[in-house]
Amino acid sequence: MSELIEKALADSDDTDVVVMGHGVLDQTGEVFKKLFGDAKGIVIADGNTWEVAGDAVVASLEAAGVELVDPMLFPAHPTVYADYDNVEKIRDHLAPLDGVIACSIGSGTLNDLTKRASDELGRRYMNVCTAASMDGYAAFGSSITENGFKHTMSCRAPQALIADLPTMAAAPQRCTATGLGDLIEKVPAGADWIIADELGIEAIDQEVWDLVQGPLPKAISDPEGLATGKPEALEGLVEGLVMSGLSMQKYRISSRPASGAGHQFSHTWEMEKLGMDREPPLTHGMKVGMGTIAVLALWEKILEIDFSRLDIDAAVAKWPSAEEMEAKVRRNFTGDMLEPAVKQTMDKYITAEQLRERLELVRQKWPSIQKRCAEQVMPAAQVEEILKQVGGVYHPSQIGVTEQRFHETYIRCQMIRSRYTLLDFLLETGVLQDEVDKLFVGDGFWAKRPWTD
Ligand SMILES: [Zn+2]
Repeated sequence: MSELIEKALADSDDTDVVVMGHGVLDQTGEVFKKLFGDAKGIVIADGNTWEVAGDAVVASLEAAGVELVDPMLFPAHPTVYADYDNVEKIRDHLAPLDGVIACSIGSGTLNDLTKRASDELGRRYMNVCTAASMDGYAAFGSSITENGFKHTMSCRAPQALIADLPTMAAAPQRCTATGLGDLIEKVPAGADWIIADELGIEAIDQEVWDLVQGPLPKAISDPEGLATGKPEALEGLVEGLVMSGLSMQKYRISSRPASGAGHQFSHTWEMEKLGMDREPPLTHGMKVGMGTIAVLALWEKILEIDFSRLDIDAAVAKWPSAEEMEAKVRRNFTGDMLEPAVKQTMDKYITAEQLRERLELVRQKWPSIQKRCAEQVMPAAQVEEILKQVGGVYHPSQIGVTEQRFHETYIRCQMIRSRYTLLDFLLETGVLQDEVDKLFVGDGFWAKRPWTD
């Protein structure tokens, strides 16, 4: 059992037990019994996760004396999506089963679906983790697509997690690569939070920060070990992912501790259904890893700028009115994404007067922002190398994103969420478009990594 996780659990609201280790599937029943007493249980799985752990989980639950109703099984193919229809499907299945507690077997999707469905019924649940593929296991909230817009739906985290390392190690390598992609974004996400903190927009909660940032260096330190299936490397990654979820559970306000501008690249592409026609579909963490490189490439340039000499009058003169800002969003989005993007953008809109005040603060705080963020971020090329080693995505062309689309994503993804990040900082200081453009010309990061198509 990880000491870090144990310490975090003592203080967590929703999750009471995390059993992480080798050969721990057989503790599922004992944990269920301890938390839920004589409640009946139902196993929720899909064809793949049932194959991997179904028998062992059922055997453990039965051995502990848990009375089980028939399992709820989704097919192995096509892949189950985290959309609200499936939340309703599970909820409507559970609703007539009075007091029955779910034990899901899965990773991102099944855990998120069961989490929200159980919460809507006012019930708790537990999950048996099948892959080190994302950080949502212990998170407060589920990432669900509703009417075409992906967002975090509020719901309590699982009361228990069983993280059997050999089971998670046996998942396809792309699952581990995707988990690392999801986790490594916490590096620039931390820098986003530092800016928001310095500018008085969203203060850093130090305990929450420590939960997510503390285990991070170790978790991403051995990509080669992750590629070759080294148990210690996987353990570090799983620990980082679970801790990241616990940080969101503690923070509650939002997914801020674990999700910054790099995630917004992924969310934009997800809502555009990028790679969803693939089988298996392109995963969240693959796109997040790509977004991480994108943001870090930008950071390298930004840290060289001296914003303490910013021309405030020029920036304020350039600032769009509310109508112009809304019109810009309307030019950039269509369909299901449009109205939510308008709302997210306008939620964070500030007037020219407010901008002036903020930019005065930027001038004053820049030395401290620069210093703290320089310590926080990593070179984009280093993350590129890590993701390459572990089998992740490190160039947009690998996921069918053209140079033009990628270039535009830098600008568009700023509009899809109200959370203040580096992208907002650059928009407000008036340099976003120019700094992004520079990445694609001359000796810019992406100019040196041409598209082959
Ligand atoms: Zn994520």
